Amino acid sequence: MRKDVRILLVGEPKVGKTSLIMSLVSEEFPDEVPLRAEEITIPADVTPERVPTHIVDYSEAEQSDEQLYQEISKANVICIVYSVNNKKSIEKVTSHWIPLINERTDKDSRVPLILVGNKSDLVEHSSMETILPIMNQYSEIETCVECSAKNLKNISELFYYAQKAVLHPTGPLYSPEEKEMKPSCIKSLTRIFKISDLDNDGILNDNELNFFQRTCFNIPLAPQALEDVKNVVRKNMSDGVKDNGLTLKGFLFLHTLFIQRGRHETTWTVLRRFGYDDDLELTQEYLFPLLKIPPDCTTELNHNAYLFLQSVFDKHDKDRDCALSPDELKDLFKVFPYMPWGPDVNNTVCTNEQGWITYQGYLSQWTLTTYLDVQRCLEYLGYLGYSIIQEQESQAAAITITRNKRIDLQKKQTQRSVFRCNVLGARGCGKSGFLQAFLGRNLTRQKRIREDHKSYYAISTTYVYGQEKYLLLHEVLPDFEFLSEADLACDVVCLVYDISNPRSFEYCAKVYKKHFLDCKTPCVIIAAKSDLHEARQYYSLSPLDFCRKHKLHPPQMFTCNTAEAPSKDIYTKLTTMAMYPHAKLRCMCSCNRCTYCICHNLLNSELVRSVKAKFYSAVLNRHMTQADLKNSTFWLRASVGATVFAVLGFAMYKALLKQR
Ligand code: GDP
Ligand code: MG
Repeated sequence: MRKDVRILLVGEPKVGKTSLIMSLVSEEFPDEVPLRAEEITIPADVTPERVPTHIVDYSEAEQSDEQLYQEISKANVICIVYSVNNKKSIEKVTSHWIPLINERTDKDSRVPLILVGNKSDLVEHSSMETILPIMNQYSEIETCVECSAKNLKNISELFYYAQKAVLHPTGPLYSPEEKEMKPSCIKSLTRIFKISDLDNDGILNDNELNFFQRTCFNIPLAPQALEDVKNVVRKNMSDGVKDNGLTLKGFLFLHTLFIQRGRHETTWTVLRRFGYDDDLELTQEYLFPLLKIPPDCTTELNHNAYLFLQSVFDKHDKDRDCALSPDELKDLFKVFPYMPWGPDVNNTVCTNEQGWITYQGYLSQWTLTTYLDVQRCLEYLGYLGYSIIQEQESQAAAITITRNKRIDLQKKQTQRSVFRCNVLGARGCGKSGFLQAFLGRNLTRQKRIREDHKSYYAISTTYVYGQEKYLLLHEVLPDFEFLSEADLACDVVCLVYDISNPRSFEYCAKVYKKHFLDCKTPCVIIAAKSDLHEARQYYSLSPLDFCRKHKLHPPQMFTCNTAEAPSKDIYTKLTTMAMYPHAKLRCMCSCNRCTYCICHNLLNSELVRSVKAKFYSAVLNRHMTQADLKNSTFWLRASVGATVFAVLGFAMYKALLKQR
């Protein structure tokens, strides 16, 4: 809404412009007035709409045409004053004043006009008969009013209408010619209806209406008022009320009624509350609230935002199959100005057998957008009406900015729940297969993916010590020359080679030596296509020797050429490494003897998972810290510990830890 309002009064000499202004200010009729009143500013707190209002007089005798034109271009609303007892002054409204003003304003952004018939105390009859045809002819005329400076009739009303014409213009809402709301207004109100229809049944029931009312007007609607509203609609149309709730048709009808009765500020209040500006576009502040992301921090959705997204999913998953069919997805995005998700999204997140995005996949995609492009995420949340439905200050309330990664590394702890793994490797070595396998797709399933629907990202969840974490895999294009900082910055790196292609390991070795040799980011070598015959790699060191030399874990065998969904183990390991990059020695074995394996297995057994997850996580954190401190002896201690642990059980182990 505008910050102030500038009202200009024009008209023939002696119609009473100056007197009107003086009467408003002094609340009495001045017998003598100057030719032109000084510009006055009415402070916000005494105006009905609570905005500072400037009132500007005009006098032909005192001002040049040039000065008049300047004032016209500065004005937000112009009152054309005539005298009801002076025919000539009425004629001049159309023969002189309206053309003069219109010549000086853009056709698309005409200033609203108000026709003011002054000196109503002097006549018995009204001038409305003459005025109404003029009103119908010029859509920029917002309203007309008859008043008298002399007996103070309709003076404050006049200035209130002028203010209202600026603050709540009817132009964008309503077409007087068609006598109906404009398409863009219908579109905006339809979106508002959809957002407010929390259960998506096409009807605003009493609860939803009350919520809507409270959101827009800060006061609940009394039960009787609620009934009255519905009765008004019932009286006027047959399908405006259904199952004792308001249909979209009824909702739109109500707003048309408000506007037609001059109560369009009601409709404006609703529109503005849902983020619209005077042109019925969502404002920048609503879609893109300020959010500063310091370097080395990442962005995640907080619990409240997930709950909201969950409710949005539930409201659109009509058949309750925990996946969104193309129609359900289309319905979900109806409140967007465009379809935000392309077909690549179906290959970025988990889908069901039909290829539809599952609940899990849906949340993953939101997590991905939040991580990669938080501005976009804010925009999308804005379209869904997050801040309104969740009663938050702005969309920014949905975002958690994580602690600087360097502090995480120092403290050897992280609160983050999204970790990024960049996947590098020569062309054709199996990177995409590695990404798709994370979404549970084997090679046969992957072959069905169209080239133009391919995604360079895959995101899903893994469980690390009982805690659900997101792992975001990003396939980096193999052009060695073009590897940028962004391609390399991540929490864990996968270097993939194809065991059947003797020339593929060289790429991994080269990238490792060039970019990751002295880098703190943990690296894993993935030996892909392990179902194929292994070829000897043309490189000075074998992959295994290379790993030994650089103190890396041995190459991790991987294949997605499986009958069922490929195993998820490797992704859990990657997430663990991303979470605990400081633990220099990491267990990647499955020996079932060392602490890691035991903890891990225990955690994965359903029995203890939920109850003890948090505690185990703490235990492991301590282990990692100790491992780092006493690097060389850690495994020795740990293996002793593990034996004791296995034999004596959990409680004793805890005591043992304390003794240390
Ligand atoms: P302006 O030239 O348009 O600014 O007109 P003025 O305010 O100077 O008024 C012109 C004359 O009309 C003055 O003599 C006023 O006293 C008189 N006048 C202004 N308003 C009214 C009104 O509402 N009723 C009557 N009877 N006279 C008015
Ligand atoms: Mg004057």
